[in-house]
Amino acid sequence: MKNIVLFGPPGAGKGTQAEKIKEKYDLFHISTGDVFRYNIKNNTKLGVLAKQYMDKGDLVPDQVTIDMLSDVVEKNISVNGFIFDGFPRTQSQAEALDKLLTKFNTSISGMVALEVDDEILINRLLERGKVSGRADDSNSLIIKNRIKEYYSKTAILKTFYQRKNCYFGVDGVGGIEEITSRITNVINNL
Ligand code: ADP
Repeated sequence: MKNIVLFGPPGAGKGTQAEKIKEKYDLFHISTGDVFRYNIKNNTKLGVLAKQYMDKGDLVPDQVTIDMLSDVVEKNISVNGFIFDGFPRTQSQAEALDKLLTKFNTSISGMVALEVDDEILINRLLERGKVSGRADDSNSLIIKNRIKEYYSKTAILKTFYQRKNCYFGVDGVGGIEEITSRITNVINNL
């Protein structure tokens, strides 16, 4: 199996690139943000819980996120591989992911990290907010909180994957196709 973690701060372009990569390598795309939004739309118990955190730009608690992710992986374990988009976002999520994949005799092939400056991120998210209708894209205070969450809880995962020799940084500024080809250059060598 080829299992890719697509990593980067909010607004780095993970969702856009995941769509391209999943087609090219026939991988199963899991976006934790999308699964939460689907649950919010359908007013499920999980959705009601997640919304309280997401609307403020806070991370949803680890155990809730891990349980949800594990469920999706277990239900789809016969695929060629996964693209994890928006997961893991904390050290304990990363540890849980390793454990889960080990259970199925597989592992993370590589973390591909989209690198984009904060100023560009904030502008991209505000632009997206005009069309996406996402509550968490709608004002700069919430956006700043998401970026703060990223630096305080998520950014350390760079070291976590570097220690396993599977961290690959990619310049996330440029045209969509250009960035896709930077990512495929990495994935082709995994
Ligand atoms: P973005 O990458 O643009 O911030 P996402 O759609 O990936 O957007 O995530 C939106 C929100 O969903 C996050 O701000 C967070 O509240 C919640 N979320 C998504 N993935 C996770 C996760 N792995 N752990 C905790 N919360 C998450």
